[in-house]
Amino acid sequence: MGEPMPEVQQRLRGLPAVEALLQQPAIRALIEAHGRAAVVRAARAVVEQARRRILDGGEAAVDEQEIARRLAADAAMTLRSVINASGVVVHTNLGRAPLAGEAIAAVAGIAAGYSTLEYDLAAGERGNRHCHAIDLLRELTGAADAVVVNNNAGAVLLALSALARDGDVVVSRGELVEIGGGFRVPDVMRQSGARLVEVGTTNRTHRFDYEQAIGEQTRLLLKVHQSNFAQIGFVSGLTLGELVAIGRQRGVAVLYDAGSGCLRPLAGLTGEPTVADGVALGADLVCFSGDKLLGGPQAGVVVGRADLIERLRCHPLMRALRPDKLCLSALQATLQLWRDRPERVPVAGMIAAPAARLERRAQEMARAIGAAAAAGSVDSVRCVDRVGGGASPLSELPGWAVAVRGVDVERLAAALRGGEPPVVPQIADGALLLHLRCVAPEQDSDLAAAVVAALNSLGKTGA
Ligand SMILES: *Cc1c(COP(=O)(O)O)cnc(C)c1O
Repeated sequence: MGEPMPEVQQRLRGLPAVEALLQQPAIRALIEAHGRAAVVRAARAVVEQARRRILDGGEAAVDEQEIARRLAADAAMTLRSVINASGVVVHTNLGRAPLAGEAIAAVAGIAAGYSTLEYDLAAGERGNRHCHAIDLLRELTGAADAVVVNNNAGAVLLALSALARDGDVVVSRGELVEIGGGFRVPDVMRQSGARLVEVGTTNRTHRFDYEQAIGEQTRLLLKVHQSNFAQIGFVSGLTLGELVAIGRQRGVAVLYDAGSGCLRPLAGLTGEPTVADGVALGADLVCFSGDKLLGGPQAGVVVGRADLIERLRCHPLMRALRPDKLCLSALQATLQLWRDRPERVPVAGMIAAPAARLERRAQEMARAIGAAAAAGSVDSVRCVDRVGGGASPLSELPGWAVAVRGVDVERLAAALRGGEPPVVPQIADGALLLHLRCVAPEQDSDLAAAVVAALNSLGKTGA
């Protein structure tokens, strides 16, 4: 039947009043550090929890440590830094591209105060948000003009809405892609009010398919980077250049969704066309993401013909899709790096990282972990890294990883994810792999310590 009532009553009476708690020296120190409101909230929650435990027949103490724990839990962020040991460079779930130091400094400076976001210093009057980063984009892509929006999905939506509403947009059935996270070309088309005219078949689309589909109502020919998949076998489609030739002949503009936004040929990655290639081939507009291969903030960029870009800029949707000052400052700083010092863009540096250097780091880390950990066998191994972010799905980057075997790797992975900093590893063939390509060398000792701590925690609970 549980405990006698009088004892429960007595325990409840033993609980301190929140007001009394707040007078204790240790709690006053917490108030000094966290502010009174937060400590009162935490103290109330801890007392209430203790009350419920006692009513359930248990025991509970209310002390400073319990309140401090509660405060820490209340302050915990859901958006946290992690170590990406997955080997995928542009990992959408892990926030895509890390920013360059120069971009972080630019954002910090702009974030802390006021800025020329929409102010013309020379004239002393209202300026234009859409002037930022434009010259750099023109220089880097060869396009006549450019506009920046919130992301590439927004860029596609804006271009279709502004140029093809109530008209036809012709696209190959082989390019009706779903990127993940809900971006599907046919759905975006529907939202824009443009009519999708699918041509060709899944695996083959020909010149005559496009030619037969073009009519009075045709506003755009759309080409979409196949992004995260590749087709092999009996496959054919038109190149961008061939599509542009048809568009020119029939007087229809060509929009190329380049997806990843590769600004320059990247060391370590072959076969990914650049945005400048798309412009040079004659695409009227090319759109791409800011935080994939470009290595900048979340953004969508459209470059191309000045008259078309002007129509996008003036469209009512532009207001809903406009980028903020933090995005624009990070983008501008990142584009400056692409112009002057491309090797400093982290995504470019990680893709180009030589296997020999990764191998040395993996060997050193495996030794350090092996020497300090109580469980598991630890080696350095070759692995395959990926670009991710819908670029070059088939390209394999030769990488190196630290491999841990001989323990329950699922539990080890969970312990790593639960650590501080959290680590996201890969599990393959019964081993836990820590790919080093996307780990900054300065993080190596943190990563090794996290793995040792996770391995030792398994040992304690009898893995
Ligand atoms: C990634 C991608 C998009 C979506 O870009 P976001 O910046 O994530 O909105 C659209 N089209 C293609 C081809 C892509 O690869």
